[in-house]
Amino acid sequence: EMSSNKKLFVRALFDYDPNEDPTIPCKDAAVSFKRGDVLQIVSMEDDTWWQACHFMDSKSRAGLIPSRQLQERRDTPVKFTMQTSLFIHFPAGSRRSFRLGRKSSWAREAARSRRWSAGVHGSIRPPTYMEVIPYRRDPKDRHRLVVLVGPSGVGVNELKRRLLISDPDHYGVTVPYTTREKRRQESEGVDYHFVSIRLFEEEILNHRFIEYGRYQGHYYGTSVDAVHRVMAQGRVCLLDVHPSKIKRVYTSEFKPYVVFVKPPHIEELRLTRRRAKFISDDDDANPVRIFSEEDFEDMIELADAMENQYGHLFDKVIVNGDIALAFRELKAELKKIEEAEVQWISAD
Ligand code: 5GP
Repeated sequence: EMSSNKKLFVRALFDYDPNEDPTIPCKDAAVSFKRGDVLQIVSMEDDTWWQACHFMDSKSRAGLIPSRQLQERRDTPVKFTMQTSLFIHFPAGSRRSFRLGRKSSWAREAARSRRWSAGVHGSIRPPTYMEVIPYRRDPKDRHRLVVLVGPSGVGVNELKRRLLISDPDHYGVTVPYTTREKRRQESEGVDYHFVSIRLFEEEILNHRFIEYGRYQGHYYGTSVDAVHRVMAQGRVCLLDVHPSKIKRVYTSEFKPYVVFVKPPHIEELRLTRRRAKFISDDDDANPVRIFSEEDFEDMIELADAMENQYGHLFDKVIVNGDIALAFRELKAELKKIEEAEVQWISAD
């Protein structure tokens, strides 16, 4: 819980526009903000209206914002009723499953279990504000680990690919480990490090993986050393994981910057994805991905579920309608955070 006797910073987990809030006592005394903004709380004395100012903006003055209590009362709890088990069987990144038509089925499964759990568990509190603390690091070593998350097909791998091509000296990726058989066109040390189950399990016990998971009966994981090696070259290490793994990646050593890639409205998905040539998450094997209407619905539903369950862990949300625009926005954001002195990390 937040305490009131120290300098308190929060990250807003919702958009707030006082012009659209009929309950605000005085619009001119209010502060508007976007989800993800960092606010300094000046006063929590009133139960309904707190006072806060934007931290980053020196011109910003303090004003009213809805208190946590008020915002919790306003939001519909059902939207945020989510069970942790929802994602347990959700393969991280699952970049290839769509070709085999598996994605749709487990996406529907997830949706079913969500509807089910919504009825069972009364109300989980909606996200409002999360307490954050400033974290300063050596200027030479800023934001060296960037985690990209998003539902399958949204374009996480394509964005990663574009970053790597755009500045190969600046960005790097790791080669993951797996226990599955090597496929004919793959090479050891390029696509994966192919290892035995015994070795993999030994490495788990030795804490050698920054994250790992199981998919289709095989282990997959990224080694801590591999991430170190990329960063030791002075590169930003790009990692894509399922959002359920973000917490594991967060350690005293790694403070990743987490970017959530979100699909746009369904109309825009239809416009931008039908004939898209570069959206495929697996373009070597499947250069043109044809999406069905159901794929769009699944993607949006999964994105919503991810955002509801893990949204408080995202530092930045990028909507990938037009891939060129999304790429430019991502690149600009990464440049901005590398220059920033402070990173805001969760207080707990
Ligand atoms: P494939 O066996 O077709 O190369 O990959 C299948 C799936 O393995 C991917 O879609 C992804 O879900 C998972 N995978 C690949 N690399 C990693 C990794 O480093 N960590 C985790 N947790 N899963 C991975």
